[in-house]
Amino acid sequence: MSRRAVVLLSGGIDSATAAAVARAEGYELHALTFRYGQRHARELESAKRIAGALGAKQHLVLDLDLRQIGGSALTDEIPVPKGRRVEEIGAGIPVTYVPARNTIFLSYAIAWAEVLGSEDILLGVNAIDYSGYPDCRREYIAAFERMANLATKAGVEGRSKLTIHTPLIHLTKAQIIQRGAALGVDFALTWSCYDPTPDGRPCGACDSCILREKGFAEAGIPDPAF
Ligand SMILES: [Zn+2]
Repeated sequence: MSRRAVVLLSGGIDSATAAAVARAEGYELHALTFRYGQRHARELESAKRIAGALGAKQHLVLDLDLRQIGGSALTDEIPVPKGRRVEEIGAGIPVTYVPARNTIFLSYAIAWAEVLGSEDILLGVNAIDYSGYPDCRREYIAAFERMANLATKAGVEGRSKLTIHTPLIHLTKAQIIQRGAALGVDFALTWSCYDPTPDGRPCGACDSCILREKGFAEAGIPDPAF
C-alpha cells in the first residue's frame, strides 16, 4: 500500500505543484481544502478539478467561517491592494494576510493525518516569490512540525513522526511553474486571483495576479488560463 499524504490544496499554482510532487513520490493523495469565507471562493472549483486531475484518493472541503473573525482583505470589507510593484509585494505583511491561516489549516491537517495513519503533510508554501506572510517561512513550518508531534496521540505514543513537507519553499514562482509543468500539472485548472471580477475573471492587478504573471513570464511558459 502506498503511503498516504495529506495535501493542503487551495486551487492555486503552488499547492497544485506540491500535490504533483507528492504524487510523483508515490504518495496516495488525501487533499484538504477550506471554504473559509474567502473573497475568491472561485478557487474551490479549481481545487476540486486539480484533486480530480491528480487522482486524489479523497478530497475533503471543510467549512470554516473566518469572515466572522475578519481582519483580512480576503475575509473582510477591506479592499484588496491593486497594481503594486513586485518590490512592494515582497516588503511587509499585506492586508491580504489572513490571521493565523496556515496554523488553522495545518491543525486540521494533522488531525486528519492522525485518523488516516499518515505521517506526511504537504504544504505548497514558498518563501521567495510570496506575499510576506509570516506563516510561509521555514522557521514557522519547523516550529509547527515540532508542535504537531507533541499534539497528537500518534506522536506521543511514538507510533508515528509527522513531517510537514514544503517542497517548494526555496523555489521562485518561475521555478515552481517549471517543476509543475514537468510533472504534468494542468495550470489551466488553477486559480490565483484574490479579487475576481463580477463576471468571474481574474482581476489582473492584485498581488497574486501580478506574481502569477511574473512567474509564467520568467518561466518562459504561456499561462494557459489566459
Ligand atoms: Zn487578481
